[in-house]
Amino acid sequence: MELIIENLTKTYSNGVKALNNVNVKIEAGMFGLLGPNGAGKSTLMRTIATLQDSDSGTIMLNGVNILEDKMTLRNSLGYLPQTFGVYPKMSAEDLLNHFAELKGISNKAERKAIVESVLEQTNLTEARKKNVAGYSGGMKQRFGIAQLLLNNPKLIIVDEPTAGLDPAERSRFLNVLREIGTNNIVIFSTHIVDDVKELCTDMAIMNGGTILTHQTPKQAVEQLKGKMWTKRIERDALKDHQSRFEVMSSRFNDDNSMNINIYSETQPNDSFEPKVADLEDVYFVALKNGN
Ligand code: ADP
Repeated sequence: MELIIENLTKTYSNGVKALNNVNVKIEAGMFGLLGPNGAGKSTLMRTIATLQDSDSGTIMLNGVNILEDKMTLRNSLGYLPQTFGVYPKMSAEDLLNHFAELKGISNKAERKAIVESVLEQTNLTEARKKNVAGYSGGMKQRFGIAQLLLNNPKLIIVDEPTAGLDPAERSRFLNVLREIGTNNIVIFSTHIVDDVKELCTDMAIMNGGTILTHQTPKQAVEQLKGKMWTKRIERDALKDHQSRFEVMSSRFNDDNSMNINIYSETQPNDSFEPKVADLEDVYFVALKNGN
């Protein structure tokens, strides 16, 4: 499995350049697309899903240009959009059975088997008799995955699936994705750094319509080794530090102080201590350098 995106560009009619020459190669596994709101993540995902056209560029899935051959893509695609319509008052089991029927699985036993399997994969077996309309946000998201799994997709795209989920639901959802990601390409977008940290074999950070970095989370953290420094300062000293150092992030303490994290090839001075770099640092450094 291999998805190769080259020179992808998209300007909306209002003049916003949502994709600015995007180049990225994605292989089987969990691919995290990390970036702030407005970075262009949804636009990129909708374009890969062939739901909207780009101005220029190519997207090749296993050697087939999917922008020209949309059916090839759609036969192997599972797409979970950011907002997922209204559900009828039907049980998950009945609804999935209905969708399976629509997909042309006419054999009843076969349908039962696949519905059972997707319920199992998404941890919804126990809740299968409940109305989907009454599901929690996290269950609805898992139901969305169950539904797309009916197609047996090879390329799965999920757009900001963890937004609005509470921590327990988020963790349950990520576990489901992790299982699915072993043999397929799963691309999922998020603005939550921890989602990527916990889940992804590969990742890209995106902002302003461009890919700022593309590497494994481990490589990305490794690259910052020895280059992050931290210092506790008084709150009113922040401006001064921002003007003298590359302050990447800061955190308030309960007293009048705060901790600042800065990027520097060498120790700026004795008042700074080395900081163990983490993925959050990677994210902030990429965003700052990309601007
Ligand atoms: P993200 O998913 O990272 O939040 P989007 O792809 O939704 O980013 O948006 C990228 C940029 O394109 C934003 O500036 C957004 O306002 C703009 N945009 C998105 N969709 C449209 C649209 N249909 N028409 C005009 N501008 C859009």
